[in-house]
Amino acid sequence: MSTEVVSVSAVSAEQQQSPSAPAQQTAVEKVNLLGMSRPQMEKFFEDMGEKKFRAGQVMKWIHQFFVTDFAEMTNISGKLREKLEKICEIKAPEVVHKNYSKDGTRKWVFRVGDGEGSLVETVLIPAEHRSGLRRTLCISSQVGCALDCSFCSTGKQGFQRDLSQAEIIGQLWMANYSYMEDVPVLERERSVTNVVMMGMGEPLLNYDAVLNSMRTMLDDFAYGMSKRRVTLSTSGVVPKIDQMVKDIDVALAISLHAPNDELRNELVPINKKYPLEQLIAACQRYIAKDGNESSRKHVTIEYVMLDGVNDYPEHAQQMIKLLKNLPSKINLIPFNPFPHAPYGRSSRNRIISFQKTLSDAGFVCTIRQTRGDDIDAACGQLVGQVADRTRRAEQWKKKVAQQNEILRSQG
Ligand code: SAH
Ligand code: SF4
Repeated sequence: MSTEVVSVSAVSAEQQQSPSAPAQQTAVEKVNLLGMSRPQMEKFFEDMGEKKFRAGQVMKWIHQFFVTDFAEMTNISGKLREKLEKICEIKAPEVVHKNYSKDGTRKWVFRVGDGEGSLVETVLIPAEHRSGLRRTLCISSQVGCALDCSFCSTGKQGFQRDLSQAEIIGQLWMANYSYMEDVPVLERERSVTNVVMMGMGEPLLNYDAVLNSMRTMLDDFAYGMSKRRVTLSTSGVVPKIDQMVKDIDVALAISLHAPNDELRNELVPINKKYPLEQLIAACQRYIAKDGNESSRKHVTIEYVMLDGVNDYPEHAQQMIKLLKNLPSKINLIPFNPFPHAPYGRSSRNRIISFQKTLSDAGFVCTIRQTRGDDIDAACGQLVGQVADRTRRAEQWKKKVAQQNEILRSQG
């Protein structure tokens, strides 16, 4: 695997120390430029003794023309291209599986390590919108997740590792490239219109890599996305929400899922560390005070509808109270079942009456459409099976086996 950010001085120092080094020593791991944000790449070029504006040029080739071969970067001198070729590469994560559905949904599975469970998924969901066709990409930020929400299959895998910047931005790169593979380089365009950090993992627990990746999404030299079209979803890592206010301006979604601490402690265990009062206060701080920042006029509240668990009228009433001082839009998510999940999806009627209660109270409340069912792709529930060997996955498998045993003995 390529190393993400190796300083050039380190690379050249190694080469300088042993000018006549044997072959294996000169085969230094190449630096992957795919994941670098512009400031990082500018520093990289400066360290190399090059002008920093070269970074912008190279970024355009990578993220706007989807070029991975330095030879195709025609506005870069031959000498510099040669130099780059020697020490750098542009390498997206390996696609082990892809599936393009009839309804336009596309899904990729990437291998990001050697283990059986070192796979992450990315889903692209198209939808007609007032402003035209939207292509929303749901990006993963970690392999597995440490937070163990009780209704989430990623949580059941346990945490394996953070994704690198190249692995995060590589998902966006690959999705865009998939539409442009057969188009001549100079005619290529960016196709993904929206990004949601709602794939596997908790993005705020891989903060720096996610932050730099989102900067690349917004950067005019890369994807140039509008800040309203990049959404970070979190289960509520309060200090990092405050940090985001200082670092970047993107849309924020909160995985609420329960309107009181007792139930939320059970469904979203990080609530024990950062209870609702703290979470709502952090959301209020996130809302832009001057009202100019259109991405921060409201937060999106995600609420997964679990049959007989959090979908009673009293829960809707508690939501109204909880959110009364927070500019928010509520998105009800029909639960997406996975094998042996301990929950069922709320009935359509129940979801609609929940929505009505909230709408009648003045909230904008939508129901997420379940899409891409024919390829088993749905944002927020990306992994089809628990396939790794972490302790939590083992415990989960044991629990499922025990349940099956009980069911069998009950005939
Ligand atoms: N860790 C972050 C982002 C990834 S999860 C977070 O929790 O916000 C993205 C969204 O999908 C979250 O709102 C999450 O609660 C939801 N989700 C997880 N499992 C789900 C399931 N089985 N059905 C429906 N939504 C689910
Ligand atoms: Fe992690 Fe989000 Fe799943 Fe919770 S819902 S386990 S935070 S990925």
